[in-house]
Amino acid sequence: MQIMANKDDECWSRVKGRLRSNVGEDVYSSWFARMDLESISDGAAHLSVPTRFLKSWIQSHYADRVLSCWQAEMPTLQRVDLTVRSPVRQPALLKDDRIPVDELRNDRNNGRPAGGARIGSTSTAADSSDALGSSPLDPRLTFENFVIGRSNTLAHAAAKQVAEGRRGDPVMFNPLYIHAGVGLGKTHLLQAVAFAGNASGQRKVLYLTAEKFMYGFVQALKSQTALAFKETLRGIDVLVIDDLQFLQGKSTQAEFCHTLNALIDSGRQVVIAADRPPADLESLDDRVRSRLAGGLVVEMGSLGEELRLEILKSRVAAVRVHHQGFDVPLAVLEYLARSITHNGRDLEGAINRLLAHNTLSGQPVTLEMAEREVRDLIRPQEPKRVKIEDIQRVVARQYNVSRSDLLSSRRTANVVRPRQVAMYLSKTLTLRSLPEIGRRFGGRDHTTVLHAVRKIEALVTKDPVLADEVELLKRLLQE
Ligand code: ADP
Ligand code: MG
Repeated sequence: MQIMANKDDECWSRVKGRLRSNVGEDVYSSWFARMDLESISDGAAHLSVPTRFLKSWIQSHYADRVLSCWQAEMPTLQRVDLTVRSPVRQPALLKDDRIPVDELRNDRNNGRPAGGARIGSTSTAADSSDALGSSPLDPRLTFENFVIGRSNTLAHAAAKQVAEGRRGDPVMFNPLYIHAGVGLGKTHLLQAVAFAGNASGQRKVLYLTAEKFMYGFVQALKSQTALAFKETLRGIDVLVIDDLQFLQGKSTQAEFCHTLNALIDSGRQVVIAADRPPADLESLDDRVRSRLAGGLVVEMGSLGEELRLEILKSRVAAVRVHHQGFDVPLAVLEYLARSITHNGRDLEGAINRLLAHNTLSGQPVTLEMAEREVRDLIRPQEPKRVKIEDIQRVVARQYNVSRSDLLSSRRTANVVRPRQVAMYLSKTLTLRSLPEIGRRFGGRDHTTVLHAVRKIEALVTKDPVLADEVELLKRLLQE
């Protein structure tokens, strides 16, 4: 029995590996990181996810891929069954969710080891602060520990400005909207804002993940305390919402929209992070999107090598507070900064591994050991996240037309073809839907986009010049 279970687990981790390389790291960590295997029986793999919207999203977008990844490992499997796992503990309502930050911090420190599960991860029994409504804060994610570099200077300055505001101060940018890819420091900055605000005792700051917001709202509706929920939300000075791209569902969105309007109109600060700009939040309605875009929208770019090195140094310094013997030679840090290009989470993971190896084996950290320990974190051929704006810019430049030509309704041949190519590239290089792409190309219908995609697909098989052009554009965009 035991052996069987282990086998299933092994198989499951291979399936996850396939899924990860199939959908790419970003999609994987957004949708699949919290998917668990419950059991395998009757020809079906029973999987679970923590929320209903994850379930419906995966079912509608990735069901086939999940199944085929399973079948590649376990050919006899016929079905994949997805359920929502119940939280370990029924959360209380958002009656009094303004827990002092100290309590949150204590709770985290007692409840789980440092460096354990992070914000937004599956609820566990240790997550008692979660049960009170606010999402827990990680005591390490403060401004002091945030390293500033070229890619995040503006976001950091804006966040700092917001955090230093006092009750009643005029609000400069509202909402402050920060977007960036996975692991580039959004949660870190947002938690720093929440922590600084709470610590100063000046303002009531509530930090919530979008999921938590939805969950709180749904729970409140169920138990008919929706009014209390609204009052709570409106009774705070600063609302910080992380991972807004996960906000789903008509009624939660409507509620979110009310809350946003109520807070902004009464001069209270809203800070938001998401993995994409407001215009790309496809599931939100236009009013919310434009409200979000109406404040300050800042993007954080990828971490450059210098910044990665500084982050590594600061992580080592933080670890050394508790593990004085933990010495990491500069050459090792430089090696890590050079080779782990993907994101901040992997940098943190690398340090944790070196630490684990160092404390468990008692061996010093050397370059050779580092190379061995972090091999799987190094993904040199990681495909780059391509944005529709970049596609439009690069295509316009290559074909010598303007970007506004691409978005315009002009139908002359010298504009039509580049426009179709740009739409085709948007469909093949990004995860955006056809309607979304249509919207980003001057409000065109999704059928127009589909037509363009099919057209270029057909043409590249016949027209070698066009095929080369498309290849070149892809290379330019993915460099
Ligand atoms: P995101 O929310 O954008 O996915 P996180 O804020 O969770 O990313 O960052 C991932 C990891 O990288 C965290 O451990 C975080 O502390 C670290 N990190 C990212 N950017 C910085 C930075 N500028 N300075 C220090 N640590 C950073
Ligand atoms: Mg985050």
